[in-house]
Amino acid sequence: MADENTSILVVGGGTFGLSTAYHLAKAGYKSITVLEKSPTIPPEMSAGNDLNKIVRAEYEDAFYTGLALEAIEEWKTPLFAPYFHQTGYLLANSSKAPEKSKISLAKALSSISSHPAFRGHIRAVNSRDDIRSIAPVFTGPMRWTGYFNRYAGYAHASGALKAVYSACCALGVDVRLGEGAQSLLFGGENDNDGPGGNRCVGVRTASGREYRADRVVLALGASLPRLLPQVGRQVAAKAWSVGHVQLTPSEASRLRGIPVTYARDLGFFFEPDSETGLLKLCPSGAGYTNFAGAGGAASIAPEESEDWIPEADVARIRALLRETLPELADRPLVRTKLCWCADTADSEYVVDFVPETKGLVVVAGDSGHAFKMLPIVGRWVRDVLEKGRQDLPRWRWKEGSDATGGDVSWRVGKVLDLKDVRVSAKL
Ligand SMILES: Cc1cc2nc3c(=O)[nH]c(=O)nc-3n(C[C@H](O)[C@H](O)[C@H](O)COP(=O)(O)OP(=O)(O)OC[C@H]3O[C@@H](n4cnc5c(N)ncnc54)[C@H](O)[C@@H]3O)c2cc1C
Repeated sequence: MADENTSILVVGGGTFGLSTAYHLAKAGYKSITVLEKSPTIPPEMSAGNDLNKIVRAEYEDAFYTGLALEAIEEWKTPLFAPYFHQTGYLLANSSKAPEKSKISLAKALSSISSHPAFRGHIRAVNSRDDIRSIAPVFTGPMRWTGYFNRYAGYAHASGALKAVYSACCALGVDVRLGEGAQSLLFGGENDNDGPGGNRCVGVRTASGREYRADRVVLALGASLPRLLPQVGRQVAAKAWSVGHVQLTPSEASRLRGIPVTYARDLGFFFEPDSETGLLKLCPSGAGYTNFAGAGGAASIAPEESEDWIPEADVARIRALLRETLPELADRPLVRTKLCWCADTADSEYVVDFVPETKGLVVVAGDSGHAFKMLPIVGRWVRDVLEKGRQDLPRWRWKEGSDATGGDVSWRVGKVLDLKDVRVSAKL
């Protein structure tokens, strides 16, 4: 069992890794090292390296509603508040949405409609006029049905990661940037946990350096299977497209204050970034796997980030704009990229010790819905380290499960492998 005198090596300095280091340091842990492959924060390949991410508490499962509410309260505290924008959240289905998407929206709504935290914050949306009463600047046809939730918004993601990084440094965490772990080191007997040659004692980096600690926490997101092949298919890298429209200063100021707008079957976008005037858009979909990286055994994020997005996603982004802001629908898309996260079959996170080993913990399986948890993830990891086990069955290691398939209840479409999608012709 860990305590403040236990040395901890966190591998991966993205959303989960930085939150873990921050919470451990805040709790008085004296020896924490974070290894991040990228030379910068936010790390280029982190799923959190983005202008913004939705912060909302509606879920099909009330357990996550509770966690997200806890996270939202933390987003209002001094470290996080500068990055939290409570613009509200418009969630709807277009007239062409599949039945699955309607069921998912109804479940999300029911998770919050009877919850006291949302009293007075939710409004039904059944027409274009309803939407225009919330966002008068939207001029598209929008034959959508859904609701508007005022108790939600977005986080400025890259800004929040930088703030947590600075807080970690101020608390004495040793963050090593540009240090990619290449293999795990296993050793013999150590402290009270009994004998074993299966104790993880650290990692070796690409530069040949060794970092050792009493406990090793892998927070590698969509790259986890590369360092830990025994995770198998329980955590599968999947990517979604991101694109931006560059607005002029006057266009950006006209769109100031719009809610996060999500047509479940088309995609979502955010208030424009106040610094750059970029309007970020993400198309809906079930995600793209990448089996090429692991010879077909698992889906893993590529080593480098990529700036192309599939043709079908460009079409989805343009359809979303035609529905809402038609004057922008034919604008060039800039700063496009594929954003990689780590799916599980049931969208539950994995925060647990790795079986058959000692001292090795994974925090993974974000399933595309964990940036909002940045302020609280590290608490869950600390809890597991200190108890020496995961008490919540839903967050245990999911031996044998397969996340590479596509039947996630809250997503639309079919999972495709990257090799089968065409590169966007015109952005
Ligand atoms: C398109 C898209 C939209 C999303 N939208 C939302 C949203 O609106 N709201 C929300 O709550 N969530 C959203 N998410 C999910 C959210 O971004 C993730 O849940 C979260 O960022 C996952 O954190 P992580 O730490 O597991 O992974 P990451 O943040 O990706 O961190 C993994 C880190 O490990 C590093 N790394 C990799 N290999 C090595 C190595 N060998 N050695 C050292 N370091 C290494 C990487 O560089 C990276 O920094 C979205 C995700 C995507 C892809």
